Amino acid sequence: MKKIEHIGIAVKDLEKSNQLFASLFGNPHYKVEEVASEGVKTSFFKSGPNKIELLQATNPSSPIAKFIEKKGEGIHHIAFAVDDIVLEIKRLKKEGFIVLNEVPKKGADNKLVAFLHPKSTQGVLIELCQEIIR
Ligand code: ZN
Repeated sequence: MKKIEHIGIAVKDLEKSNQLFASLFGNPHYKVEEVASEGVKTSFFKSGPNKIELLQATNPSSPIAKFIEKKGEGIHHIAFAVDDIVLEIKRLKKEGFIVLNEVPKKGADNKLVAFLHPKSTQGVLIELCQEIIR
């Protein structure tokens, strides 16, 4: 695994949170993207070398809706960049981690992604992401 690619934050109202984080960072979000398969609408911010992803549910059965119902708004996941997501999934499974997506799926921001179950990572949802090279 390489550097932290981004931190994902679950929010109830993306519009409102976009304004809040824009004033926090001193610059607006640079992208909004809906991932229909996940039931989420996302926006992305840059603060120096760091990237923050805000996630809002687009339907009640979205994982983000369930997360907010259980825990409220806040940090949802930490994403790490990987060079080869398929190899990394294999390696982590061998180490005993519970991989939620054995086959990586298309995530936001031009990435292939897979998640590790928080049960196997001390309560922290970990996302692996590999840039899709076009
Ligand atoms: Zn993410």
